Amino acid sequence: MPDRLVLLGSKGGPALRPGGPWPSSSLLEIGGRTIVVDCGLGVTRGLVDAGISLKALDLIFITHLHSDHVLELGPLLHTAWTAGLATPVTVFGPPGTGHYWRRFCQAMEFDIEIRIVDEGRPDIREMVSVSEFAEGHVLDQRGLKVTALRVDHPPVTDCFALRFDQGGKSVVFSADTAFFPPLADFSKGADLLVHEAMLEEGIERLVARTGNGARLREHLLASHSFAEEAGRIASDAGVKRLVLNHLIPADDAEIGEDDWLAAVRKTWAGDLTIARDGLVVELSSVKAAQGEETA
Ligand SMILES: [Zn+2]
Ligand SMILES: [Zn+2]
Repeated sequence: MPDRLVLLGSKGGPALRPGGPWPSSSLLEIGGRTIVVDCGLGVTRGLVDAGISLKALDLIFITHLHSDHVLELGPLLHTAWTAGLATPVTVFGPPGTGHYWRRFCQAMEFDIEIRIVDEGRPDIREMVSVSEFAEGHVLDQRGLKVTALRVDHPPVTDCFALRFDQGGKSVVFSADTAFFPPLADFSKGADLLVHEAMLEEGIERLVARTGNGARLREHLLASHSFAEEAGRIASDAGVKRLVLNHLIPADDAEIGEDDWLAAVRKTWAGDLTIARDGLVVELSSVKAAQGEETA
């Protein structure tokens, strides 16, 4: 299996609209490891559609506890359990992840207890371990190194960009963040930088449509990055490919790929992918040098 990134859910924010993309979740297959980054609604369906056997679930990382990144963590683990999960799974998340998981198991207690007795299943509560991390070193295991950087996503303080290094390949996820220059150092020389992005002209239209006007606009501007800012981080970091993800707005018929390109090309001339649900980025296709334009 070649190393690849699959963008399972590519929109920013938790709301769903007919025909639109789904909230944040990604699959990273690198060095034989199956890694899930964020578990927004749709992650289970996305993994199955990407050909992943749920009982082979291995590592899960949660960047922060906003619902568009964590809402389906419990349902994913529970579904993997009913699919015959045979090996332990570790969930790495910010402080509070363990609380979420324990309360999820409490909410599902009736079903969990009955399946253990009736179907002879092992206890899911003993198969899943949660490891809460802070900034810095997260994991060093069988050649896979994971590090975290606290980013700027008020009012959430425990929100972390993640860097995965394995066999000379590296992939960085920005998580949700306002323009945050330290991300450039953190992403130095990465093969892929998956950075969140919003589009200025789409914000007013989104705010008008959602109805919670001023407060929503305030949150978006304080806590998220414009596509131009994502491009700036990618340029400063010298990454080999920039992937714009967690798109805001993501389901506005008036906003298309050309609009994203026009914005990000002001600051980024290198290889570029604009996320959509189910899109695959092969790591082997990432070129050795920055600069070739494909999109
Ligand atoms: Zn988000
Ligand atoms: Zn968030």
